[in-house]
Amino acid sequence: MLTTPQLREQTGNQRVADRRVTLRKIPSRDAAQWNLTIGGIEPESIVDGPGFRYTVFVQGCNLRCPGCHNAQLQPFTGGRSIAVGEILDAIRNNPLLSGLTLSGGDPFTQARVCASLAEEVQAMGLSVMTYTGYTFEALWLANRPDWRRLIMASDVLVDGPFIRDLRNIDLRFRGSSNQRLIDVRQTFAAGKIIVLPEE
Ligand code: SF4
Repeated sequence: MLTTPQLREQTGNQRVADRRVTLRKIPSRDAAQWNLTIGGIEPESIVDGPGFRYTVFVQGCNLRCPGCHNAQLQPFTGGRSIAVGEILDAIRNNPLLSGLTLSGGDPFTQARVCASLAEEVQAMGLSVMTYTGYTFEALWLANRPDWRRLIMASDVLVDGPFIRDLRNIDLRFRGSSNQRLIDVRQTFAAGKIIVLPEE
């Protein structure tokens, strides 16, 4: 049983407070055999987070952001299946990597498998950065164990839809200014959303 700290961020008129959730882990020996449906992989990305990132582009997204830069990843058909173990082996075998980035599409459409992958990567001592078109508050308040697990298995959550009118090419690791680089650990420690400082 995991007890979250009070999150005092307002979401409309709703206050997030003292929510409890049971998070069931997939044993690591099993997680490696699970499959993800992906649109592609960038094995040494320098644009999806700090350092060299192993970026997995998950296939499928329910949102239809006008101006989406990865529209080919929106359909839930297509893409290819890959075992989590294959991704983990590739990450283990590249000492240059700083971590894993889950992008898409939206990783929360395959949250359970993404969470298992992310937990294994964190266990290697590497960081996990997860992109999503949903806000942190919307994901957490949905009260879905798989979504909460993926949040908890991420060091940084880049949240919110891409909004074309707010597009700014000078932003670090994100496309529009509504999107936030949320420090997940600090957010739970502080009980409010903590975003990484601009550099
Ligand atoms: S959330 Fe991302 S992948 Fe999904 S439609 Fe919006 S920009 Fe495209």
